[in-house]
Amino acid sequence: MRLSRYFLPILKENPREAEIVSHRLMLRAGMIRQQGQGSFTMLPLGKRVLDKVCQIIREEQNRAGALEILMPTIQSAELWRESGRYDDYGKEMLRIKDRQERDMLYGPTNEEMVTDVFRTYVKSYKDLPLNLYHIQWKFRDEVRPRFGVMRGREFLMKDAYSFDLDYEGAKAAYNRMFVSYLRTFARMGLQAIPMRADTGPIGGDLSHEFIILAETGESQVFCHKDFLGLPVPGESTDFDNDAEIGDIVQEWTTPYAATDEMHDEAAWANIPDADRLSARGIEVGHIFHFGEKYSKPMNAKVQGPDGKEHFVSMGSYGIGPTRLIAAIIEASHDENGIIWPESVAPFDVALINMKPGDAECDRICDQLYSTLSAAGKDVLYDDTDQRPGGKFATADLIGLPWQVIVGPRGAAAGEAEVKNRRTGERETLPVGAVLSRFA
Ligand code: ATP
Ligand code: MG
Ligand code: MG
Ligand code: MG
Repeated sequence: MRLSRYFLPILKENPREAEIVSHRLMLRAGMIRQQGQGSFTMLPLGKRVLDKVCQIIREEQNRAGALEILMPTIQSAELWRESGRYDDYGKEMLRIKDRQERDMLYGPTNEEMVTDVFRTYVKSYKDLPLNLYHIQWKFRDEVRPRFGVMRGREFLMKDAYSFDLDYEGAKAAYNRMFVSYLRTFARMGLQAIPMRADTGPIGGDLSHEFIILAETGESQVFCHKDFLGLPVPGESTDFDNDAEIGDIVQEWTTPYAATDEMHDEAAWANIPDADRLSARGIEVGHIFHFGEKYSKPMNAKVQGPDGKEHFVSMGSYGIGPTRLIAAIIEASHDENGIIWPESVAPFDVALINMKPGDAECDRICDQLYSTLSAAGKDVLYDDTDQRPGGKFATADLIGLPWQVIVGPRGAAAGEAEVKNRRTGERETLPVGAVLSRFA
């Protein structure tokens, strides 16, 4: 992509409304435009990151056996009356009437709708386990929308729903999602810690929030330092092997970790001071087993091997892709801007032509642009007539992992400079070597 043809509305000044660094940098880097309270347009650069984040989530959901669907955003109140949640949900739900005066709502979540899909088609235990997910916009009329996409009112969510014959099956489904989440966040360069979360009236221990430690986090969390060194399950993890998956969950739930509501002072007191991490955290994911909470009132049942009918045992599993973008920036930036992990970077390489119009600079940049692109690299080619200082600042701000810089002196010698955004290391290489470095 040539920057001269791109839409990258960089802000020079720090926007006053932004209280935290991720919000500030997303606005300054031209990733988002606020449209209303808690609602945002994803501009081209932001949209590219969002797509990368969603793709990682999708790949890891699929790997764990979940199947992608897409449910509507607007739902009928009827379904929510069946579960009893229409009245319970309160002011966070945006309620709408259609032209026939029917009560509708903009979905804050989809348990009812997916249970309706399930009960329509699935009648036998032989069709289980089943896990359906979608990546869809949600609306929650938050009391305090703030920090940009970190707490929006309209935000994207990946929500998965598992259906099993009994608790044992549901627990295995829960474990698969647990492990899938470990891989998902690690692939985004994040250290996410699963923490015991409140299960409310459902009870049991099957609820975990996945938390990124960050000063700007809205929750107070407590955990053992051991989490920082635990190995993340690899690509060869066998999601069909319940024992293997169970062992990983066991390992990742053994050290102490709890959110504020679940914090146990007595257990905490047993951990040596030096091993304690008491910090602020950002909830990027949440998995929850709730058994028959919806299947019973909504009559979602299957025939078991015993010939009897059983209400299915369910769980739900959420991740916030839009919030994740902010969380990744909170975890990875410096005073000059964002530092994208390679896996979610909007482009791989910033190609900077320091002197467009100089025949050698143009020729070498064109060559690098086409060969790097042909090698599968996404290149953002700064071919604008901005001054070099401005170009460097833009490249640092938008945080692409690599910068390839071509100036008149180097060009005359057939050389270009390669800069690593994260370490700041620079290397001058012959143009041919730049290509082989990325190919
Ligand atoms: P929070 O405690 O931050 O209000 P929640 O517990 O209400 O979140 P869940 O219902 O568990 O959220 O939703 C699943 C995921 O959706 C969350 O873990 C988070 O990543 C994301 N999410 C929830 N609310 C928002 C929001 N207002 N803006 C952006 N992402 C959100
Ligand atoms: Mg909430
Ligand atoms: Mg929460
Ligand atoms: Mg939650």
